[in-house]
Amino acid sequence: MTPVTVFAGRRVALFGLGGSGLATARALVAGGAEVAAWDDNQASRDKAAGEGIAVVDLAQADWSGFAVLVLAPGVPLTHPQPHWTVGKAKAVGIEIIGDIELFFRERAKIAPAAPVVCITGTNGKSTTTALIAHVLRSAGRDVQMGGNIGTAVLALAPPAANRIHVVECSSYQIDLAPSMAPSVGIQMNLTPDHLDRHGTFEHYGAIKERLVAGADIAVIGVDDEPSKQMARRRAATGRLLVKISGEQPLDEGVFAGITANAGTLDTRIVQVRAGRPKVVANLAGIGSLRGSHNAQNAAAAFAACFALGLTAEEIAAGFKSYPGLAHRMEEIGRIGRVVFINDSKATNADSTEKALTSFRDIFWILGGKAKEGGIESLTRYFPNIAKAYLIGAASDAFAATFDEAGGVAYERSGTLDVAVAAATRDAQMHGGEGEIAVLLSPACASFDQFPNFEVRGEAFRGLVTGLPGFVGFGAG
Ligand code: ADP
Repeated sequence: MTPVTVFAGRRVALFGLGGSGLATARALVAGGAEVAAWDDNQASRDKAAGEGIAVVDLAQADWSGFAVLVLAPGVPLTHPQPHWTVGKAKAVGIEIIGDIELFFRERAKIAPAAPVVCITGTNGKSTTTALIAHVLRSAGRDVQMGGNIGTAVLALAPPAANRIHVVECSSYQIDLAPSMAPSVGIQMNLTPDHLDRHGTFEHYGAIKERLVAGADIAVIGVDDEPSKQMARRRAATGRLLVKISGEQPLDEGVFAGITANAGTLDTRIVQVRAGRPKVVANLAGIGSLRGSHNAQNAAAAFAACFALGLTAEEIAAGFKSYPGLAHRMEEIGRIGRVVFINDSKATNADSTEKALTSFRDIFWILGGKAKEGGIESLTRYFPNIAKAYLIGAASDAFAATFDEAGGVAYERSGTLDVAVAAATRDAQMHGGEGEIAVLLSPACASFDQFPNFEVRGEAFRGLVTGLPGFVGFGAG
């Protein structure tokens, strides 16, 4: 834990006692603050009270004594409308901040030179965060990873000069962290998302830009127009900037060069310094970094780790042993030529598209609770589908899309167990050469059959690992 001492002896109002809110309350109490915490959920309040955290009904409380309002990142600061605590805080003129802000204030006090990498963007945050942490650890560095991924930032060990914090930040967290100033700030990409919480696309982009604006070194993806403009604005300040791209050569920065090679795609990471390009890593054969989206993630990770003093060789070696994150094009294992891929996190067509471009002979398990637009945007990848297996509520709609497009063999499996058995049988009988994928990439939410995408992915893992002849990834 990182005890937060910057509010020692002062009264702090805290709203939201979920995972990170509770961790924040603990850190504030440990640092000597007098915390008054509240949550709408009785069970969350009871849990906090059980740990000795003072639970106070903030709707009835006298706010004049509070020094600050700390909000959990799930609580709306602005959109769709400010939470009622925001009005109370504004009425008494106190600041409204979140856990990332507390972390940076504590760092400024106890270890201002402690290295911190912060990662944001619409997509690829978790992958890039996990990849950076893995590469740094492989090179023997002391690493703490958390934030929007896994452990709440204040539950991590405190910042220290020889310890690197790698912190994934959602836009909600950045919005509540006005003075964040990471050593390396990464903005991956920007596409419309979460507009319900941020109002306009411009506002959403402006929040993300704050993360890189405060960074000593800004690493910015230039594969979409709004991010490209952020890079231009950064360049105009004269402060350090490393541009990255997953798809186009750059005259300075780090990019991925993708070439077709004997039927497979070869991805090389190229670093250009003082106008001189150098191939610094090759992603060929790294199952956990398949696909052009991961090329962008690897380019960002390279830029960050290099900025932190690792050699190109250390970074390339770290890429090779990266295990990948669960449920994101995760290679579970194989039976002979058949590779089993768990992409349960792909809850919409955009995410599934990444998987469909990354394999060629695909036995595709899909379905669940469909999102708007279904899988119509994916028809151009249908030639990669050897056969599809439909599960869940979306079966009729997806069958109609296949019928309309024509040429895709499919069956209605209904449930995941039936689909896995059928896809495995068909894949094992499939001719040709090279890798064959049994791919769970549902392009749907899971809620009709599973509580969430994690449970769905674990169900797939359970079914697959029980198959005769199955060899787990990394085994043997
Ligand atoms: P996030 O943490 O931003 O949600 P993840 O790393 O968890 O991102 O990846 C989630 C999904 O987003 C992946 O399964 C993939 O479909 C897609 N994705 C990952 N990286 C990128 C990227 N750099 N650009 C676009 N899409 C990506």
